[in-house]
Amino acid sequence: MNTELVPVFRGNGVLEVVERQPPQLVADDDVIVRVEACGICGTDLNILAVPPAHKAPPGIVIGHEGVGIVASVGSAVTSVQPGDRVVIANRLTCGKCAYCRRGLDNQCTNYQTIGTTIDGAFAPTLRAPARALWKIDPSVPRDDAALFEPLSCAVGAVKRAPFQPGDNVAIIGAGPMGLLFALLYRSMGAGKVILLDVAPYRLAFAQEIGMDAALNVTQVDAPTEVKRLTGLGADIVVDAVGNQINHTIQLARRGGQVILFGLRPHDNPPVNQYTITRYDLTLHGAFVGLHPFAQTIQLLESRRVQPSILVTHRLPLKELQHGVELMRTQQAMKVLIEM
Ligand SMILES: [Zn+2]
Ligand SMILES: [Zn+2]
Repeated sequence: MNTELVPVFRGNGVLEVVERQPPQLVADDDVIVRVEACGICGTDLNILAVPPAHKAPPGIVIGHEGVGIVASVGSAVTSVQPGDRVVIANRLTCGKCAYCRRGLDNQCTNYQTIGTTIDGAFAPTLRAPARALWKIDPSVPRDDAALFEPLSCAVGAVKRAPFQPGDNVAIIGAGPMGLLFALLYRSMGAGKVILLDVAPYRLAFAQEIGMDAALNVTQVDAPTEVKRLTGLGADIVVDAVGNQINHTIQLARRGGQVILFGLRPHDNPPVNQYTITRYDLTLHGAFVGLHPFAQTIQLLESRRVQPSILVTHRLPLKELQHGVELMRTQQAMKVLIEM
């Protein structure tokens, strides 16, 4: 049998290339996928940070933003068949805990994650249960499909905050997630879409892909500038960073809404509660997405959001570590690993 070379996480930021047998069907709901490409995510950077900023057991194959072609299916699989192009919904919820039974499966207390707790898609071959795979039309370019998972998180988050066409949106954080929110809001008919960041590379990128404004918060007074651009302040503000709550509430107009999306478990900024109450702000916590997958597939198939515009680098699997460095040092927006 042919073997394949796969980078395996060894802990402490180390990836070791290992020769292995490709995974085989085991359970009757298993699917074997020939991976075409897999995006590098902020979560991967966190897993590979020293010390790690996201837990993953040594010995795991990471990677969860994958797209590929079904090679074979177990006897109980009916949702996909060999030859189908599929993308990965990487959180495997238990379906049995108190939260799953309430329909809040993003809060499942027993979940597994492809690419974090079980082997992922930075490999030529992936084994995954059928329920983690979503079929996508082959007319969607590979590199748009590869951004299905992060886009699904944005799709899940925007539905928390009731939106009206024409709403002005300010997004703190012009990295891949912030820009996915921006592309999404633009496709939904937002008024102005304004990005805020500290990194010149990211701000220039936001400008280049046609965002209405890209503000460097080290150079301008962001609340003043957002008010000048919007009249009253933003109708909706997104924190794509994870510790920007006090800035979000300064950018929102009275009666506006804030989506708190980024995750920084160790940051704990003090909150100006008076502003929230006095100006009638609504704050939404939004952890990944709650059932966003069907809509995300439909959105990608509509081609009205083409997230591959964020892909700046395509590298072979053996250059995974290099891709991680490019993203960590902000010399790349989104890196795709091609198998
Ligand atoms: Zn991701
Ligand atoms: Zn559960």
